[in-house]
Amino acid sequence: MNDSPADTDSNAYRGRFAPSPTGPLHAGSLVAALASFLDARHHHGQWHLRIDDIDPPRAVAGSIDAITEALVAHGLVWDGPILYQSHSSSNYDHALDRLISSGWLFRCLCTRATLDANGCCGQHCQNQDISLATPHSLRVKVAPERLAGFNDRFFGGQAAPAETALKDFIVKRRDGLYAYQLAAAIDDAKPHFTHIVRGADLLESTHRQRWLQQLLGLEQPAYAHVAVLLDPAGKKLSKQNGAPPLDKHQPEQNLRQCLQHLAQPAPPSSARRVPEMLDHATEHWSMRR
Ligand SMILES: [Zn+2]
Repeated sequence: MNDSPADTDSNAYRGRFAPSPTGPLHAGSLVAALASFLDARHHHGQWHLRIDDIDPPRAVAGSIDAITEALVAHGLVWDGPILYQSHSSSNYDHALDRLISSGWLFRCLCTRATLDANGCCGQHCQNQDISLATPHSLRVKVAPERLAGFNDRFFGGQAAPAETALKDFIVKRRDGLYAYQLAAAIDDAKPHFTHIVRGADLLESTHRQRWLQQLLGLEQPAYAHVAVLLDPAGKKLSKQNGAPPLDKHQPEQNLRQCLQHLAQPAPPSSARRVPEMLDHATEHWSMRR
């Protein structure tokens, strides 16, 4: 696999933006949407919208409409129908079956109190005989000697996590829901997508997702993580931290701020409206710190 954007096969490029329906878009999510959009369009690729709706308890009614309206207001129009992770359960079950039959999964009884400092199983659950009837999560083991680093198109070489830091992780939750890592690993792999552009807060997750792709024999996409927007206290802007929704009545101002954050050239004064701003940004897009 070649991670260099310059060598991207433009005909094959398939990218995506994949928000969870947990509220309206905020400035931080617009950065991820815009970066993935511009990278795809710069490479004459496709750009899709996938709704990561595998956690119904966290879903907020009306979010999907709010997200799509905000994207359209900012000129970020996706190709094809909207994709939904909730439609992929059979793929996730199939993957779990494969991981079970190849011996990579174990049942874990750990609660927050018994996890180790890295969030891994902290009480050797894989050596215990845990019945199916006992509430448990499913964790995948990690073989450190087989866990490779990767080349991020933006941040460069990423070494594999230390052996003690990533011994295992959850692929199916105790409440029966599929874990984010499992769903993302499967749905982000080729041939669904060739290029994943998303926030740098997910760099650590990428190691987990690449490990699952490796175990499942899935072809890995190229990854690029972009710097996330921080609030004045230095925390990642997020719905959980109360980031305000985007004002879709001032898309030009929002886009200008996102482009500045992404270290892209400012649109010239002649590019005042959204389409012209996006055309300019697409043409001049490059991965910069
Ligand atoms: Zn455990």
